[in-house]
Amino acid sequence: MNIQENISLKSLNTFGFDQNARFFTVADSVDTLKSALTWAKESNVDVLILGGGSNMLLTKDFDGLVVKVELKGIQLIHEDENHLWVKVGAGEVWHDWVMYAIGKSWAGIENLSLIPGTVGASPMQNIGAYGVEIKEVFDSLDALNRSTLELETFDAEACQFGYRESVFKRRLKDQYVICSVTFRLDKSPAFHVDYGAIQDILKQNEAQQLSIKSVSDAVIEIRKSKLPDPNEIGNAGSFFKNPTIDKKQFEGLQADFPGIPGYLNETGVKVPAGWLIEQAGWKGRRIGEVGVHTHQALVLVNYGMGNGASVKALSEQIQQSVRQKFGIDLQPEVNFI
Ligand SMILES: Cc1cc2nc3c(=O)[nH]c(=O)nc-3n(C[C@H](O)[C@H](O)[C@H](O)COP(=O)(O)OP(=O)(O)OC[C@H]3O[C@@H](n4cnc5c(N)ncnc54)[C@H](O)[C@@H]3O)c2cc1C
Repeated sequence: MNIQENISLKSLNTFGFDQNARFFTVADSVDTLKSALTWAKESNVDVLILGGGSNMLLTKDFDGLVVKVELKGIQLIHEDENHLWVKVGAGEVWHDWVMYAIGKSWAGIENLSLIPGTVGASPMQNIGAYGVEIKEVFDSLDALNRSTLELETFDAEACQFGYRESVFKRRLKDQYVICSVTFRLDKSPAFHVDYGAIQDILKQNEAQQLSIKSVSDAVIEIRKSKLPDPNEIGNAGSFFKNPTIDKKQFEGLQADFPGIPGYLNETGVKVPAGWLIEQAGWKGRRIGEVGVHTHQALVLVNYGMGNGASVKALSEQIQQSVRQKFGIDLQPEVNFI
């Protein structure tokens, strides 16, 4: 195990914020991970687990040990007539894993193409896009208990998945390091192509047969056209979750804001946070070196020399004005460090 000191995290978070880790190490096996956690305990310093840094807001230097998870490996562990169970190392890049599965004709995660980050972080917030969440293809995960240093297995129920949520963001926050995730993929695809934008692209490419590859290609095309590329402008994707409000409140808002979009779900009406932010006048606004993206009001950006504290302050101003205008509390999707 190699512990480095005073390492810049600028290239390790997609906002591109130049905060330092007092100590930094890479864990490429469960043993090195255990050694790192033991070292931190003995040195009496906090630990921050880092994947691809694409869902993180670094608001200050980290005065402890940053452990970058790089456990690799993709292993087919079981199959039956309809399904395949594949165990994937937490440090595999999510999109590379999606491409690998598509290359093998394994179906189920094609709608999740091009989501940044690592496999290990994917259950943290039950990543989702274009009508699919990982909970639908999730079998189990192995995670190292940070106190006992024992590996424990969690099934889907134990993970308590919700919309951009899991037990690891709530009750078990900072208590486990996810080391591998086992997915249950399909041998025959069940296509999720209801999204208008996916339909449009598939129609344009009519000559192409519907396949997991064509769905993945369509998703990639949409994402590239809609979402700012962190290599060009620092961001962490959607900054806030889409709030669900009760039906009565929604109907009340409809009277004042007839155009308000809403989608019924099991607990109420989901309202697009981007719409609320745009209506509150934030879309495209820049405050110094940070701001709200010009085309995507849900994405906060770093114009180059910004910092996490400024994005935090901006996010609080946005929350306040959305609360004032609509009486709705926006919750961040991004993890504040
Ligand atoms: C342009 C862009 C688009 C995005 N689009 C989507 C989208 O469509 N859908 C979606 O759901 N998300 C999206 N995201 C958010 C992000 O890609 C996901 O949340 C992703 O899973 C984060 O992975 P990561 O490895 O970068 O996690 P990090 O940012 O490194 O970490 C996120 C959190 O998980 C913890 N963590 C990381 N790895 C582990 C581990 N192995 N064990 C325990 N804890 C861990 C960290 O401590 C931190 O709290 C987008 C982000 C960007 C920048």
